[in-house]
This record gives sequence, C-alpha cells and structure tokens, in this order.
Amino acid sequence: MVQLIPSPDVVLQMLKRTGAFREGHFVYPNGKHSPHYFQMPLAFRYYDTARVLAVALSRKFRIEKDIASQLTKVSIISPSSGGIPVAFGVRDALNAEQIYWAEQEHGERMFRQYVNQGEVNPCIIVDDIIRSGHAIDETADLVKKLGSNVIGCGAIVRFTSAPDEMEGVPIKSLVEFDAHMYDTGEACTDCAKDVPVEHVRF
Ligand SMILES: [Zn+2]
Repeated sequence: MVQLIPSPDVVLQMLKRTGAFREGHFVYPNGKHSPHYFQMPLAFRYYDTARVLAVALSRKFRIEKDIASQLTKVSIISPSSGGIPVAFGVRDALNAEQIYWAEQEHGERMFRQYVNQGEVNPCIIVDDIIRSGHAIDETADLVKKLGSNVIGCGAIVRFTSAPDEMEGVPIKSLVEFDAHMYDTGEACTDCAKDVPVEHVRF
C-alpha cells in the first residue's frame, strides 16, 4: 500500500539521497557554522521525489475542514522561487484553482505586476523550507494587502526555531528539524575538532 504521508525519517532519507540534506561542517555567508545544510531544490529536481513530497504535504492540508470546504477556490502561494515546485505539486494534489509566487525585487518581496485586489482566492502558503518564518510572514502581508486571507501554511521542512502557527493557522511540515547553528567558529564543535569547512552560498 502506498503510504501517502511518509514518516519524518523516511522524508529525511529522501532528502539525503537526493543531496538536499547534507551533513558536514558548513559556513554560511553570514558567518554562522552548522553541521547540516539543506538545499531543497536538489530533491525537487527528481520528479518522482517532488511528487511524493508534494502529495504528502497536500494530505496535511486536506484534512483541515477550513481548507477542504473552500476547495477548489483556493490559491497556492510560494514566498520565493524555492517554493514554486512545491506550490505546483500541492496545487495538483488539491486541484486548487490558482498559483502565485513572490519574488525579491530591489530587496522587497512582491508579486508580479497586475495581480489585483480581489483576484486572489483564499491562500495556502507553501515553501520548501521554513527557517525563520520571515518569508511566510512577508507573504501573508502581501496576500492581506490584496484583500485575501491565509487559510493554510506549510513546508517540506520546518526548523523548530521557526513559529509553528501564523495568526491561528497551524504551520504544517513533513519534517520538524532541530537545526544547530553556531554564531562563530569559536563556538563551533566541528571547528574545535579541525573538521574541514565547506562554504555555502545561502
Ligand atoms: Zn565550524
């Protein structure tokens, strides 16, 4: 039987196998050190993996009465490019009517021009990974300015340091990950052991 919501361990194995979840000794552009690194589009480059992950996430939305009752007049919204394949996969599984994605322009998150007030269906915000929650907060603000409301929110991975709800809407995820971050090399246990570093872009 097909398991529609794989366990967090199984999801993490899929992410590891595709290269999306990496273990080692990483240094981020902001100078923080970490023993793990997520590059989620590496999982979404494989169509079958992308489909399994998106269908699993969609199941977590479908069981919410407030969402199920509003389908198909729902929009799936990605805060950035990383969430676009998630948005398309979730849209397919839920048969939602609309998809939108925000992009950074001149340092500001926005939708494309001519997305007008009143056109956006009630929203489910989806992303590949939620690290701090800032991206979904900014996206929720955009949606509200367009006269719509957020009825669901989720990602494949959520760091446990990020919020687990947004104005009463629970944030769904397939994996809740307790990320270890060190502010400096002095605080980093791998630096203390002289483990070679890998510099990551973001
Ligand atoms: Zn280090």
